[in-house]
Amino acid sequence: MHYLSTRGQTQPHTFSEAVEAGLAPDGGLFLPESLPSIADKLPAWSKLSYPQLAAEFFTLFAPEISNAEWHQLTAEAYRRFDSPDVAPLKKITDKTYVLELFHGPTLAFKDFALQLLGLLYKRQVQHSGKRLSVLGATSGDTGSAAIHGCLGRDGITIFILYPNGRVAPLQERQMACTGADNVFAIPVPGTFDDAQRVVKDTFGDTAFASSVNLSAVNSINIARVLAQCVYYIWACLRLPEDVRATAEYVVPTGNFGNVLAGWLAQQMGMPAGSFRVATNQNDILHRFFSSGEYSQSEVHPSHAPSMDIQAASNFERFLYYILGQDSARVREVMSQIKSGAPFTIRLPHTSLRSTRMDDDTIVKVIAQMWKDWQYVLDPHTACAFTDMAQDRVSVVLATASPAKFPEVVRQATGSEPTHPTLEALKSKPLKTWPMAADVSAVKDFIRQQTSHGTKA
Ligand SMILES: *Cc1c(COP(=O)(O)O)cnc(C)c1O
Repeated sequence: MHYLSTRGQTQPHTFSEAVEAGLAPDGGLFLPESLPSIADKLPAWSKLSYPQLAAEFFTLFAPEISNAEWHQLTAEAYRRFDSPDVAPLKKITDKTYVLELFHGPTLAFKDFALQLLGLLYKRQVQHSGKRLSVLGATSGDTGSAAIHGCLGRDGITIFILYPNGRVAPLQERQMACTGADNVFAIPVPGTFDDAQRVVKDTFGDTAFASSVNLSAVNSINIARVLAQCVYYIWACLRLPEDVRATAEYVVPTGNFGNVLAGWLAQQMGMPAGSFRVATNQNDILHRFFSSGEYSQSEVHPSHAPSMDIQAASNFERFLYYILGQDSARVREVMSQIKSGAPFTIRLPHTSLRSTRMDDDTIVKVIAQMWKDWQYVLDPHTACAFTDMAQDRVSVVLATASPAKFPEVVRQATGSEPTHPTLEALKSKPLKTWPMAADVSAVKDFIRQQTSHGTKA
């Protein structure tokens, strides 16, 4: 199995090479050269535990890692989840299920991919004997999930930049109260875009990047998308058999990574009816799916901050498929997007539709769901609860624990949700490494922190 770039100008990579590179050298995103069929495997897979299912799935995509090693990796990756099911599927009504993806160490769905990615990094260090420096920028969830994936792993040092004062206090604590000496939480002045620019420019110095063996943690790594396919298959296999083929999966969406994973699983033969892209008021994807026009506008901060995005980085993978796997067309469209010009395409028939939700409605939905079903939603998951399909089953993907967003939830329900992991953080010392939003300061710091010792 090889991995090709959506832009068609990169040599085929193995899984491990594609994971290590993150972004393809031609600026595109990696995808498997072909999608294996999983339909005939599902009856056997329905008897597996979550980690076992993940191991069997990944063996199809990365046979160069033995099936036995995959089983070790996935057992380790999902060991720290606080539910025996890892991703429990809860039945709320006859027509509505919630797939809870917030039982990992940072209480958001990004743990599914980043716990595994941390182990793949560790494996890479063991094989190459070279220390790895992981660098990323975050507006909250990705950074804390990445940190908890790399925490205490030998040979890995992780640096996460974030906009000072602009991430939720609990998210900052998840990054800055780990007590681990291989973790550096770095607040910088400005917005997320400023932090992101410093990270991009640091990678732009390729001599520096290779001298400290720098690796990017962001939302486009192919390992992340594949890790997310697994919980769709898991959920599908837990639904009553007669509703599987028509069920609608409803996915709170920002970068398009999560919903893409479900759609890919369907292309591989997982029974599913449709997918709904649920956005907040930053609705570029909703406008695209309802009109075919993709036009960027400003980001307006919302109650669902992890979806405050106007440039959905995984969208290029979907474009590649709907443009008939024509890399030249992908390059054309991506350069148009980069120039800021809107573009319109005639959307082929797909199994995707979309909705949007504004902040006022988010609060109302949380209140209503609490009143009707005594079920507490976080503000991201709340965006799913509109225009529910009437005639078939919906599976809502719950992407974060409500305890991560206590203020909005209190506003809606009158009481603050808590979680023991988050409570424990409140008494731990906060250790951050504030810095100017300046490339040379960041490079000096990384050099300094990685120069002593070559333990791998
Ligand atoms: C990242 C995130 C999302 C959006 O996921 P994408 O893969 O970027 O679409 C939704 N909800 C929460 C809680 C998140 O952390």
